[in-house]
This record gives sequence, C-alpha cells and structure tokens, in this order.
Amino acid sequence: MKFSEFKYERPDYEKIKVSFDSLIHELKVSNSCKNQLECINHINHIRNHLETMGTLAEIRHSINTKDRYYDEEQNYWDKYSPLYEELDFKFYKELIHSKFRKKLEEKLGRQFFTLAEFSLKSFSPNIIEDLQLENELSSKYTRLLASAKITFMGETRNLSELTPFMQSRDREMRKNASDSKYKFFADHEDEIDRIYDNLVKIRTKIARKLGFENFVKLGYIRMKRSDYNPQMVANFRKQVKKYLVPAASKLYERQRKRLGLSSLFYYDENFKFNTGNAIPKGGPEWIVKNAFKMYSELSPQTGEFFNFMLDKNLLDLVTKENKAGGGYCTYIPDYKTPFIFSNFNGTSGDVNVLTHETGHAFQSYLSRWIEIPECIFPTYESCEIHSMSMEFFTWPWMELFFSEDADKYRFAHLESAVEFIPYGVTVDEFQHYVYENPEASPKDRKTAWRNIEKKYLPHKNYTGCDFLERGCWWFQQSHIFNVPFYYIDYALAQICALQFWEKAAVDKNSAWKDYIKICKVGGTKSFLELEKAAVDKNSAWKDYIKICKVGGTKSFLELVKLANLKSPFEDGCISSIMKPINNWFNSIDDEKL
Ligand code: ZN
Repeated sequence: MKFSEFKYERPDYEKIKVSFDSLIHELKVSNSCKNQLECINHINHIRNHLETMGTLAEIRHSINTKDRYYDEEQNYWDKYSPLYEELDFKFYKELIHSKFRKKLEEKLGRQFFTLAEFSLKSFSPNIIEDLQLENELSSKYTRLLASAKITFMGETRNLSELTPFMQSRDREMRKNASDSKYKFFADHEDEIDRIYDNLVKIRTKIARKLGFENFVKLGYIRMKRSDYNPQMVANFRKQVKKYLVPAASKLYERQRKRLGLSSLFYYDENFKFNTGNAIPKGGPEWIVKNAFKMYSELSPQTGEFFNFMLDKNLLDLVTKENKAGGGYCTYIPDYKTPFIFSNFNGTSGDVNVLTHETGHAFQSYLSRWIEIPECIFPTYESCEIHSMSMEFFTWPWMELFFSEDADKYRFAHLESAVEFIPYGVTVDEFQHYVYENPEASPKDRKTAWRNIEKKYLPHKNYTGCDFLERGCWWFQQSHIFNVPFYYIDYALAQICALQFWEKAAVDKNSAWKDYIKICKVGGTKSFLELEKAAVDKNSAWKDYIKICKVGGTKSFLELVKLANLKSPFEDGCISSIMKPINNWFNSIDDEKL
C-alpha cells in the first residue's frame, strides 16, 4: 500500500470512550494476569489506531496547509487531543496499580510503566487552568515571532527570510541583516520579558501545586528523565567546560584566520568559508537517487529500509506551495511505517535531512515490532542518538553528493557538532538558574545569561550590539519558552553520536584489515570460509542496529550501555572523545577548503 492509500477516518470520541472505559474497568477488576494483559493489548490497539488517525491528519495537513478537509480534521484533533489524553491518564492509573504489575513489567518492559508513572506525576485535575495559561503564553511567544515583518533591502521579510542575508559573503550585509533581526527583538523586549516572566511564574505555581519545591524536578519529569538528575547534568557541563570549550574556541580562531578577519564578530559566526558552503551538486531527484545508492551500500538493512520508504512514497521532501515549513520524521502505527517530511532548498541541509531524519525513520522502522505507542521512539536525548549517529555513519558516502567539496562538508559538519555542545549547555545552565530562582527579575536573568555565555562561549564578540551584550541572545531560542529543559538532550546525544563517529572510523580500518587477510589466504579457503573471514567486523554498526531495534523500550542510560558507549555523565567520557576529534581537525587544512 502506498501512503496515499492509507485510510483516514475521523474517530468517534463517544464510542471510543465507551469501549475504553469498559476495558479500563475490566483491567481494574480482573483477577488474572493473562486477562489483564489482553485488556492492555486491546487498549493499546485502540490507542495505536487513534495515533494513526491523528498522525495521518497532521502529515496531510502539513503537506498542503490549504487542503480544506484536513484543515478541518486538524481542528478536530486540536480540540479532542486533551480528551483522548484524559483517557490515557485513566488507563495509566489502573496500569501502574495493577496487582500483577511485576509480571506485567516482565511482559511489557519496565519503561512503559516508568513513562506512565511520570505522566501521572506531572498532572493533576487542579492544574488544568494553569496548564491552559501556560499553553496560551507559549503560543503568544510563537505568534509574536511568526508575526515579524522586517523591512530589509526594500522588502518585508520574516525572521527566517533574513537567514540567507546573515550568511552573505558581504560582511556589511551580514551585519545589517543581524542588526535588523535583533532590532525586532529589542523592539519587543518588554513584551518578551513579560511573557517569559509569566511562564516562569505559572510553571513554578504548577510545580508547587503538584508538591515540588520548584519547577526543576517537574521539568525533568516532563522530559521523562528517569535515570539522571540535575547534579549529573551539572557534572556533564563541567566536563564540557574543561575539555570541549577549548576545542570549540580553537575552531572559532581557525575560522577567523580562514576568513582573514582581525576579529570574529557575532554576525560572522555563521559564515564559515570565503568560498561559500558546500552545496549538493544536483537537484532533489538526483539527491534521492544517490541516497538510494548510499543506503544500499551502507548495509542490507538500510538498503531494504530505504527501498521500502521509496516504494510506499513515505518521503515528502521538496518544498512546494502551501506546504508547512521545517522537517520532521514521524511514525504511523497501523501501517507500521515511518514518514519523512522536509523542504529541500538546494543547501547542504537537504543532505542533512536525508541523513538525520532518516536516522529517526530507520530506528522506528526497526522498532515496528513494538505495540506500545509510547515505546516506538525513545525519549528525546535517546532519539537524537539515532539521527545524529546516522549523520556520521554516512560520512564515507558524502562524495556522492558534494564531489570535491565532500571534505568541506565533513569539516563544517563536525565543526558544528563540536561548536553546538557549549551552546547547548549554556541554554541548560540558564534554565536551571531561572527555575531555581523564580523570583529573579528579567534583568537578573539577562545578567545570568551573559555570565553563563562568557563561561561556555568565550569567543562571543558582541561589540556594537547593546541588545546582545545585555544578555538577550536567548530570546530567539524557542525551546526556552515552549519546552523547558529540552535542550541538553541534543548535547548528550551528540556526545554519543561522536563516539559512534570515532568507532566507525576505527571499524573502517578493521574492515580493511579483514580484506587484506582474505587477499593473503588466496585460494587456500572455500568461498564460505572466505566470506566468514571477511565478515564485516563493523561493531559500531552492529551496536547501532541493536539500539534501533529496542526503540523506546529502554531508558537513556540503558540504551547507552546497550550501545557499548560511555555515559556522557561519566568523568573521562568527553576528554576521551576529544582526542580523536582534535586529531581529525589537525589532519585537515581548512584554509584550502
Ligand atoms: Zn532529530
């Protein structure tokens, strides 16, 4: 079946509620574990179907936002999602209090129960109004940014339309575009301050109503962090400061030299090469054709997977009129298929989508056996291991897309991975400050942000921009407003992905050694013996497949262990990964790229 043939039908809430309630009741009164398990499977079957319908409506609406039918359906889901969520909560309550819980955990995995418990801990009927207010404030911020109308070079533009100008080869243009962007934020400074201040206050209020001292603990619960705490994250940041910040500073210094500038200012940071960034050497169809070749060569599993995606039309890649912005990967449970959405625009970002989102999609494809909707994708910090690692596993094929500029692509890719982490911990430390000090004033927050920046991003040079110098950079970081504490996830996952990057490079050498071995034995062995001798010793890839298959049935540190990676929280993890990274950078003459 092709994607267009996947059937959408609006569910009938009243009917669903009746069968849900009767199943939950049965679950409650049942005296046999077998019968309880049947109830749970039945409930999950219904929930998978609801998820399928909601996801289909969302995908089709994002492909054509002007489609009247799916626009109407989107409204239905916006309205009914909270009601369906309420049914989930009833289910969770019975589930975690089951008298057969231990046996059920053995059958269904402990993670499902942990997730259910966390959802319950973060909710109570007496915070509904507060949650609504939180959503309202968060939407207000999103709408304010979306409403930006900035006159630049004689035309009215939105914030994202300024981006190409901010990366222009013309330095004056970069500066002007940056200044126009930050002028928009400065013009709305009071309003954004007010929105954020109210968000901090309402979140603190919700946390206290739920019995927490402040929002920090609740923030971790909302992010479903079951096996690490703020102290461990603080230790991670400490390691970043010690081992990663110096490496990132060196990269900025190399960039300054490469660009021939006397100082690297805030408006120069996104401009990486005087010769321009690497761009794919062909259009969308050509990129997909090469991606097919790449995934066929990478491994039998990826070859089969990519063929499946193409065959069923599960990729909507090219930008077109009325299509929503951005890129994402999602999963459609009833059809057991991933779906990838993007807006190809002729930059290296097109290849990033095909490696990053494909990493998410490949993981969910290998997790198709999982029938529990919560456990298809793991929690955020784990999800990004799959996607970011796939970006690195595909490195050897970048010539297919960038030809002679492949090294330039790889250099910029690894550079951005390393430079991102100190920024990631800046956002994280700031949010800890904010929610540990809910009474701080907007001005205090800005001072705190600037001080944290100086700690992790010492290269920042805001000369000439009072707004940024006062500590307002974070106004543009939507996660801070919309999903508190969601950010360190990317930094944690990146450290894991970098470990895969190193292992894959080492394994490549071991594959070569295996090849030499079979050359040497010549005709002294049979075909099968030879094949066995040559078996790809690619242990990094095997570890990767392992964690793709378990999907969301494990917690973050369980996944890290299963993948044979070092925990990012452990002392020594970051320092050991920085050695090969620094060596790799030293092996490339970036001034020639
Ligand atoms: Zn991702």
